[in-house]
Amino acid sequence: MSWFKRVEKGIVTPTEQKKETPDGLWYKCPECKTVATMAEHKRLLYTCAKCNHHDRVDAADYFDFLFDEQAYTELDADMHSADPLNFVDTKGYPQRVAATEKATGLKDAVRSAHGQMNGQGLVVAAMDFKFIGGSMGSVVGEKIARAIDYARHNRLPFLMISRSGGARMMEAGYSLMQMAKTSAKLAMLSEAGIPYISLLTDPTTGGVTASFAMLGDFNIAEPGALIGFAGPRVIKETIGKDLPKGFQSAEFVLEHGFLDFIVDRKDLKQKLTDLITMLKPVEVPVKEAANSASRI
Ligand SMILES: [Zn+2]
Repeated sequence: MSWFKRVEKGIVTPTEQKKETPDGLWYKCPECKTVATMAEHKRLLYTCAKCNHHDRVDAADYFDFLFDEQAYTELDADMHSADPLNFVDTKGYPQRVAATEKATGLKDAVRSAHGQMNGQGLVVAAMDFKFIGGSMGSVVGEKIARAIDYARHNRLPFLMISRSGGARMMEAGYSLMQMAKTSAKLAMLSEAGIPYISLLTDPTTGGVTASFAMLGDFNIAEPGALIGFAGPRVIKETIGKDLPKGFQSAEFVLEHGFLDFIVDRKDLKQKLTDLITMLKPVEVPVKEAANSASRI
């Protein structure tokens, strides 16, 4: 029975020649468990090929998806938070901010930029959930307010991409003031006749939903995004009843009239371009308008 005996040595690879499979080469969908290569997942803009689950992505990713040739200019990139209330929970707020800055490479929970989208100028502010839950403190409010001002002064459409747990408790009342500030700036943008589109992504809750996220000329959302004010657990405990299936999903919110439409991330750039083209005021020169009127 010599064929059962290994005559030659098996495959022997010295340790130094062994190739490790690098981390992050594969992606497993948390919804349907389908496995895809990271390259394929990235090509689909971090959505699942099988069930279309939309993964949470960062502000920088949206800038790459939307701006032509991934070229954009960031606004107020260095603004970061003070500690107006000397707030301490499990650690001091400045230490928390410093640790989060170090871990994420971000300065706060929102980034804003301007650039070209399919050849049209656009200002975008997008939130980063990994920075203290995308919470809205005074830096978030101020950066959004400034981005809106930039859009108004340059007469460019404004897109807000929200992904937030709501107000930042470490700034308490200061966080709440950002709701009023951003809303007032948006009112000024509206008076100037400049379009504002709000994209709600997973999750958009609390003071963000209750202010700028729901004030768009169009309020749109990514599929499956959680959208609400208070979380489902709090509501369930308050009303003492079970909540309907799919409660607070983008689809549920759309069905109840709080959204204009849901947009697949892969179609986002084109849909936004169409929308902005449609919203652009047709500027007819005064002289020409008078001539056409006289012909009638
Ligand atoms: Zn999936």
